[in-house]
Amino acid sequence: MDYRELWFKNNESDHGWYTCAKCGKKIRKADVDIDHIVPQKYGGEDKLYNLQCLCKHCNRSKQASLKDTAPDLFKTNSQRAVKAVKKSVASAKASVVKSVKKAAKSAVKSVAKKITGKKK
Ligand SMILES: [Zn+2]
Repeated sequence: MDYRELWFKNNESDHGWYTCAKCGKKIRKADVDIDHIVPQKYGGEDKLYNLQCLCKHCNRSKQASLKDTAPDLFKTNSQRAVKAVKKSVASAKASVVKSVKKAAKSAVKSVAKKITGKKK
């Protein structure tokens, strides 16, 4: 998969808008530059941990320097980790709600059976 495609697959837009990781400007997909945090010429990989969304202006001023590499790697990946935790908490909540609903349903059923006196 193309690294640009990889990044877009893993980062949802905000109603078609993306945010530059440097200046925070909102940009359209066509204006997004997917930047290698560790530049390719220093062996930076086409992996999610090494990719960030920049506007064209910020990407141009960054070029292939290593100046921002460490903080960018930390920022990008800590945000991703927080997102992953939030997502797993949300799905855990959803599954708890589901099982509570299921339990409530079967409790109502069994009470209804007792009231009507019917056996299964
Ligand atoms: Zn920018």
